[in-house]
Amino acid sequence: MPDDIAEAWAPLHGRVALVTGSTRGIGRGIADALLQAGCRVMTNGRGPDDGTRDSAGHVAYAQADLREPAAAAELVAACRSRFGGLDILVNNAGVQHVAPIAVFPDACWDEIIQVHLSAAFRLVRAALPLMRARGFGRIVNIASVHGLVASENKSAYVAAKHGLLGLTKAVALETAAEGITCNAICPGWVRTDLVQGQVARIAAGSGLSMAAAEEELLRAKQPMRRFSTPEAIGALVVFLCSEAAATMTGGSVAMDGAWTSV
Ligand code: NAD
Repeated sequence: MPDDIAEAWAPLHGRVALVTGSTRGIGRGIADALLQAGCRVMTNGRGPDDGTRDSAGHVAYAQADLREPAAAAELVAACRSRFGGLDILVNNAGVQHVAPIAVFPDACWDEIIQVHLSAAFRLVRAALPLMRARGFGRIVNIASVHGLVASENKSAYVAAKHGLLGLTKAVALETAAEGITCNAICPGWVRTDLVQGQVARIAAGSGLSMAAAEEELLRAKQPMRRFSTPEAIGALVVFLCSEAAATMTGGSVAMDGAWTSV
């Protein structure tokens, strides 16, 4: 029984989680939510350690560039050596590039497929032996509405996210009898760096202020016209990792203000 009463009641007490791309944005919201739910959390980013630490030592950071094929196995090994295993994998790291397909650069296509799709495949492959050893696992893939529908000028992102939903289903089938689940979350707009670049492009192209450009971004796609938050996505991840979600697998949950309801 842990000393800290908050920990004792945390639904995921003692579980070990790896959240890719958790230096900021949605990934940081997910890492914080899992920590509050009682997990020990391995955070990750491409750059040097940002110094974030909890006083109890329940958070560690592993620098790894997910464009590199070797990064997945290194990250999982870091979880084993720091925290003794891995129960929860959240494939979140992501990049965006917006351009018509006729001029879409090879390098951007390759990076988007590597980071969103190939890294998720390699991380699942590396994580499964540790999950199987414990007879428990939760894999949550942060996809997008663009796993369900397309938008113009996002060919690589749409292809990668549709692929990620396919991977989610395939992994769910292969792990269905093993206490392991694999699900995807499909957010609409969340106000993060990844979206701010797109807002800035609307502002530059139209002469609108950043605030008005945000309104325009929401109006074009998301009937609710309000951003979801990294904290709300974190709460959904905690639910998917809980016992209550033990039979939810292979699915995708949209949090998109009715974007995909049309
Ligand atoms: P963000 O730009 O704020 O954060 C992206 C994170 O990924 C950062 O921590 C960054 O360091 C990391 N990253 C990028 N390239 C990496 C690499 N090569 N190796 C390791 N880490 C790398 O973006 P975000 O909006 O928080 O996006 C997080 C996830 O949510 C992405 O998969 C994105 O596609 C998805 N998503 C975002 C939105 C949105 O509206 N923001 C909507 C739907 C889905």
